[in-house]
Amino acid sequence: MVLERWSTLLLMLYWGFLKKNIALMHSSLAFVPAGTFIFSRIVFGMMSKVTVYSTQNCPYCRMAKAFLEKNGVPFTSIDVGADSEAAKKMIELSGQRGVPVIVVDEEVIVGFDSQRLNELFGKPSADDIFDVLIVGGGPAGLTAGVYCARKMLNTIILSENIGGQALESWAIENYMGYRMVTGEDLMKKFEEQVRNLNIRLELDRVVTITREGNIFLVKTASGTVARARAVILTQGNRPRKLGVANEEQYLGRGLSICSTCDGPLYKGKKVAVVGGGNSALQTAIEMSGIVASLDLIVRSTIRADAVYVEKLKTMTNVTVHLNSHIISLEGDKFLSGVTIADEHGREENLALDGVFIEIGWLPNTDLVADLVKLNGKKEVMVDPNGRTSVPGVFAAGDVTDVKSKQIIIAAGDGAKAALEAFEYLIAEWKE
Ligand SMILES: Cc1cc2nc3c(=O)[nH]c(=O)nc-3n(C[C@H](O)[C@H](O)[C@H](O)COP(=O)(O)OP(=O)(O)OC[C@H]3O[C@@H](n4cnc5c(N)ncnc54)[C@H](O)[C@@H]3O)c2cc1C
Repeated sequence: MVLERWSTLLLMLYWGFLKKNIALMHSSLAFVPAGTFIFSRIVFGMMSKVTVYSTQNCPYCRMAKAFLEKNGVPFTSIDVGADSEAAKKMIELSGQRGVPVIVVDEEVIVGFDSQRLNELFGKPSADDIFDVLIVGGGPAGLTAGVYCARKMLNTIILSENIGGQALESWAIENYMGYRMVTGEDLMKKFEEQVRNLNIRLELDRVVTITREGNIFLVKTASGTVARARAVILTQGNRPRKLGVANEEQYLGRGLSICSTCDGPLYKGKKVAVVGGGNSALQTAIEMSGIVASLDLIVRSTIRADAVYVEKLKTMTNVTVHLNSHIISLEGDKFLSGVTIADEHGREENLALDGVFIEIGWLPNTDLVADLVKLNGKKEVMVDPNGRTSVPGVFAAGDVTDVKSKQIIIAAGDGAKAALEAFEYLIAEWKE
């Protein structure tokens, strides 16, 4: 009888222990790349030889290096903008004329493939329900992060890169406090400010956001699931495509959407820039200084600020093709030319080494199309304080229907959205 009581007591104790540990296992697995970190090299202590081929101003290269540094992975960095032999080797290895290229032992990873890098090097993270989850680490997201942290909110920023589009600007002359600053320098300052506060900053791509009661479930490309009481959408824009055959095939093989990243690989070459707005003219002006010749292909007429138009006129190696568009991309492994057609259907072949696409942007709203109300341009509709159609979801910056797309506006609206999220949390989560 006594023995029976003891064994029941022991069984109860054991069950209590088991339950506690199952709960702990669950909670610690809630925020890890599903099934991946367990096999990661970090966990097993294997040391890989990692080489990152990059250029100085490439934001994706910075992301890749930040990821490796964050995960304690030693690596060698090679600037292919400065070292032409290394550039040749990188092109041979990857079959690409675009950075970054990351070589891990025998494996060649093209671009900042966060999913693959997480599989190789990701580490488990702690479980939490965040007060605020911010999607995007551009000017809007980073500013929102600072305001959330100053309100003592438990905050995470999930972003594909740190700095957003602003990284691509080589001369910002309209951000208060600076007469002129490069996008990279300004975003480094933003990042420094965020890193000084208690904010989790993870490089990853959000793929879905769903609601479960009053909690938001956020899934990412690397398999992470995060939970939050409020979400701030600041995922900005992505570049428009040309809409011609073989576009995907030539991306990174002569066709580029990031002149800041890939520009240095085209020193002394023949290139074209497509577009007639501020971004296209900025790119044309910057690139004309390093390339042999530059064709600017503009679908209708130039619609850029006078300061860029005047500057472009002083560039002697630039030919402007107005009312023209690309109808085909030609080449073998790499792009070697394009055919353009003008408004009368007259065609012309241009022999080129590279083409930079600068034809505008589309809001990154596919992941929230079923969550919040979008306008006709697929931008997130917000009220003057950054509230969306869904309580608990806020938005700021270029992803919203706010007309002007500028750093100072994105940053200001990020601050407003964070303060609004704070008020929402106070009202909805009083306890
Ligand atoms: C070449 C160029 C020059 C410019 N020059 C100027 C200038 O001189 N002055 C000025 O004021 N403005 C300038 N702009 C505009 C300015 O950069 C933008 O208005 C500003 O960056 C918008 O900030 P944002 O935070 O709203 O979005 P973004 O800067 O677009 O940031 C969005 C962030 O979200 C991330 N993201 C996207 N999708 C996901 C996802 N699914 N999951 C996780 N993260 C995601 C992105 O990686 C990025 O970090 C320029 C833009 C360009 C392209």
